[in-house]
Amino acid sequence: MSFVVAIDGPAGAGKGTITKLVGEKLGLVNIDTGATFRCVALNMLQKNVKMEEEEKIQKILDNINIEMNSDGKVFLNGEDVTHRIRENDVNNLVSPVSTLQIVRNKLLEIQRNIAKGKNVIMEGRDIGTVVFPNANVKIYLDATAEERARRRVLQNKEKGIESSYEEVLNGIKERDERDSNRKIAPLKKAEDAIYVDSTNLTIEQVVEKIIGIINDKKS
Ligand code: C5P
Repeated sequence: MSFVVAIDGPAGAGKGTITKLVGEKLGLVNIDTGATFRCVALNMLQKNVKMEEEEKIQKILDNINIEMNSDGKVFLNGEDVTHRIRENDVNNLVSPVSTLQIVRNKLLEIQRNIAKGKNVIMEGRDIGTVVFPNANVKIYLDATAEERARRRVLQNKEKGIESSYEEVLNGIKERDERDSNRKIAPLKKAEDAIYVDSTNLTIEQVVEKIIGIINDKKS
């Protein structure tokens, strides 16, 4: 039996950073499901396929191969796209793409397969509600939109990208709205998930808190 930790929450709550650190400390394989949606969006951009071209999107899904290795690299049809899937054109397309039922169906299968037989910590929007409703531990990681925007602006600065706080905040609010209100697999806290608000916590404090929750469930 594998052990599954599900971490859901909105963009910028710190899921990526926290999942990686907790995974390393507890020896769990880290799976970023957002990257799988990003791969579909990138493949559509590469093939110049538009949102309304359902048949072409289905063809992409029929032929897609997504792999993730243990150091967090992401491969789309054999090509290393780890950095490419974080660029702006993918950021803009990924949220609409993730509302499509055909995309979610295919990625659900891929995400469950990636986790098969492993002890994993998987982050996304619907892991505790849809992908692994029987996960051993479910956490909903949140922070205010203002704090998430502040962190994103800092992250961008570290990468040498100047960004306006107002623009980033509006982008985050738009994405929250779309992710929470879509009909299929919306972003929402699973009833049995533990709510963690990271607004006033450091990364180390959040990691410690989550490790405590996982260890409680194990014992
Ligand atoms: O986590 P990340 O920002 O990389 O996710 C990109 C987008 O993919 C999200 O804005 C969301 O629309 C979608 N997503 C999703 N379900 C998941 C993970 C991501 O719908 N489990």
